[in-house]
Amino acid sequence: SETTPARTWSLVGTTARGSGETDVFGIFLLFDLTDIRQLERIRKDFVANVSHEIRTPLTSIRGFAEALHDGGINDPKTAREFSGIILSHAERLGNIVSDLLHLSELETGKAVMRYGSVSLSRQIAHIRDVYADHARKKGIRFTVQLPEETLTYETDEGKMDLVLGNLVDNALKYTPEGGEVFFGGWKEGDAIVFEVRDSGVGIPRTEVDRIFERFYRVDRARSREMGGTGLGLSIVRHILEILQGTVRVTSSPGQGSTFLVRVPSREPAPSGIPAGSK
Ligand code: ADP
Repeated sequence: SETTPARTWSLVGTTARGSGETDVFGIFLLFDLTDIRQLERIRKDFVANVSHEIRTPLTSIRGFAEALHDGGINDPKTAREFSGIILSHAERLGNIVSDLLHLSELETGKAVMRYGSVSLSRQIAHIRDVYADHARKKGIRFTVQLPEETLTYETDEGKMDLVLGNLVDNALKYTPEGGEVFFGGWKEGDAIVFEVRDSGVGIPRTEVDRIFERFYRVDRARSREMGGTGLGLSIVRHILEILQGTVRVTSSPGQGSTFLVRVPSREPAPSGIPAGSK
């Protein structure tokens, strides 16, 4: 649906009169408006998307709170059910806000990187501990492969936790009951490689390139139902860009998906212009 607008040049002219009556000079600036318009459209789309995403849970919260207020609260069964729904929508709102904050920090270059030595096995075990219960409750066989304990790499631990957490979270989200999810990491030359593999719904070939876009979802209803915000993978992409890593996806619909993440095992040298300088 995205089309590139025709290239438009704008001529901005200013003339000024100097002290002598004859020395009139002009300053002409050429602006390429294409980029400015495109940015403006992306910004508007973003605001519309965010408003929509926030309005949906908010509408439900209001509806169920009203129903409670109007007497539902007197029936314990109804009260428990409705307050549970309100809670889950409030959690969804919280997810959206925290994803938006992460994304805005990353996109404005304000994300502070804190590099340090990280134990690969401890990091993987940590992610396993966060999701094991969720996997068990959903009836998914969650297999985790830990590397040898002495293996460390230099990275921003919090940011990598976010990358891995998002991928494992997705694998569990898009895999039905009875399925399998594998998560592991190892060293390969100068790189650390992580694999998150699931036997879930898969991603159609034509959509694989798009899933890293903000708010892009193959199945909007399914994502919502699972508590998704459509922002997880764009956060993953941004973090990996900063860490000079890559992510590769292979998937077949109905069979499952594999996400392979590769990051340098040493802190990347600063590239290009340092952040904050002009
Ligand atoms: P969401 O919050 O919707 O999960 P993401 O940015 O994390 O947002 O992912 C974008 C979309 O990519 C998802 O809505 C889903 O359609 C697809 N997707 C991501 N991971 C998987 C996976 N492991 N299996 C199938 N589809 C996936």
